[in-house]
Amino acid sequence: MADYIASIDQGTTSTRCMIFDKPGSVIAVDQKEHEQIFPRAGWVEHDAMEIWNNTRDVIGGALAKANLNSDNISAVGITNQRETALVWDKSTGQPVCNAIVWQDTRTQKICDELADLGGGAERYKAKVGLPLATYFSGPKVRWILDNVDGAREKAEAGDLVFGNMDTWLLWNLTGGVDKGGVHVTDVTNASRTMLMDLTSLSWDEEIAAEMKIPMSMLPEIRSSSEVYGECQGGALLGTPVAGILGDQQAATFGQVCFEVGTAKNTYGTGNFMLLNTGEEQVPSENGLLTTLCYKIGDNKPIYALEGAIAVTGSLVQWMRDNLGIISSAPEIEDLAKSVDDNGGAYFVPAFSGLFAPHWRSDARGALVGLTRFVNKGHIARAALEATAFQTREVLDAMNADSGVPLKELRVDGGMVVNEALMQFQADILDVDVVRPKVAETTALGAAYAAGLAVGYWADEDDLRQNWGEDKRWTPQMDSDAREKTYRNWKKAVTKTLDWVDDDVD
Ligand code: ADP
Repeated sequence: MADYIASIDQGTTSTRCMIFDKPGSVIAVDQKEHEQIFPRAGWVEHDAMEIWNNTRDVIGGALAKANLNSDNISAVGITNQRETALVWDKSTGQPVCNAIVWQDTRTQKICDELADLGGGAERYKAKVGLPLATYFSGPKVRWILDNVDGAREKAEAGDLVFGNMDTWLLWNLTGGVDKGGVHVTDVTNASRTMLMDLTSLSWDEEIAAEMKIPMSMLPEIRSSSEVYGECQGGALLGTPVAGILGDQQAATFGQVCFEVGTAKNTYGTGNFMLLNTGEEQVPSENGLLTTLCYKIGDNKPIYALEGAIAVTGSLVQWMRDNLGIISSAPEIEDLAKSVDDNGGAYFVPAFSGLFAPHWRSDARGALVGLTRFVNKGHIARAALEATAFQTREVLDAMNADSGVPLKELRVDGGMVVNEALMQFQADILDVDVVRPKVAETTALGAAYAAGLAVGYWADEDDLRQNWGEDKRWTPQMDSDAREKTYRNWKKAVTKTLDWVDDDVD
């Protein structure tokens, strides 16, 4: 057995390759950002070829930094931005258009039409655990087939295939056009398409037919931890690809949330809280998603409740790139600390509508409570607080659905270095917020899935021992202040609703 495991983390803003050792420590990282393409309001695209090229580069980069080669790597795992949909021609390896990113809202009309067939937004919820929303992959594939010249004919002739980013990278790593790349996804990614039956873990032909998606386009659904194939070229030549988990499920796995009732919250482009519900699928009454958490080889599938928030860290990016009031993301912390409080300002970043627990695609962003008193420090503070308030809404929903209040929250992702945010988060939730030693839990989770499949780690107990606490924030705000500011937040949310009219494309 070689000494290390590699993990490819194909995120919304960048692609990383990380090398881990047995205690779960990071040996090397290489990372490349890719272009965010905004062709018009509400549309978000990625160039899948750029992402594949970046993937090859960061694999080579991470191995070179650690002075390693493929002989030192036992297996590689993949974790990825979920729901982002790509359609490509399997005989040329060329995508038919850019990947449509999870944040993209162009499928609103398709979702409305499907809802009108009966059952409204909950039409498929009992089978797939998800409400009809622009977020998920299935309607994005339908949009591509309806709008890209010649795509439907080619798809019906069996020439085109669909995949989320995991499938695209796996297909290319395992040989692509030339060497018969495998066309496979794992249960967690499949559970974000709106096309997979949560119980049978297979594609639902009726839903695919209603969305007019040929079954021949869909990848084979496999577990999250097994050998799917071997790398057929590049720096990892001959290395088995042995784990796939959608990014949020990977972070849950990396946080070793293996027991029923354990939860983590990841603070990245968006925020995603997942609660392990074990072998039970818990239908949500409070705006959460029922989703696959993981499936290790032949073991039974483990399910989760999920609260997905579209815009958290990307609001910080927006303040940097679109407003220019900070020049880097970490600067927001100092700017926010230049004032004592939010000065009455509340920022609801409903840029892609509102996801959990509201699921309101008609909402758009609003900055409310403004007076002449408010300055850019208050706005920076309101932007950070937005992340914490949105998380409180999701935690309340989680507690209501599960009936067992969470006692502490494990956190990870790019924003958890922000101490001011973490303290405010503990204050607003009134529970402890705990950051682990390895904050790169997403990449770690995919490494764990791959390492388990090849026997690098023996079992879940091996992984539990790797988890250690780095820092804990305990609530300090008094309850009156907490409930008053949260009440204002909820009022601010109501101001964003009903903004988009029916006649808007
Ligand atoms: P993803 O995996 O979704 O691409 P990451 O986990 O890498 O995202 O987190 C990146 C996000 O974190 C960015 O949206 C960035 O704006 C935000 N971010 C990074 N550093 C800070 C910070 N110090 N304070 C607040 N937000 C931050």
